[in-house]
Amino acid sequence: MEANKKIKQPTSKFIEVECIKCGEKSIVFDKASTKVVCAKCGDVLAEPMGGFAFIVGKKIKDLD
Ligand SMILES: [Zn+2]
Repeated sequence: MEANKKIKQPTSKFIEVECIKCGEKSIVFDKASTKVVCAKCGDVLAEPMGGFAFIVGKKIKDLD
C-alpha cells in the first residue's frame, strides 16, 4: 500500500535546550504534551502550550 506516502505528516522536530539553572543540555520534542524538566536539577525546560512545547529554558538549536 502507498497510503503512507499520501499522508503529509506535520513537521515536528527536536530542540536542544539548555537548563538556565544548571546548564544541563536536554533534547525537547517541539510538540511535547507533558512538561519537560531538567534531568539534573528538575527545573522546567518546556511546557505544553496549544499543542506545542513552549521552551522555558535556553534554546540552543533545532535538530532534525
Ligand atoms: Zn538543570
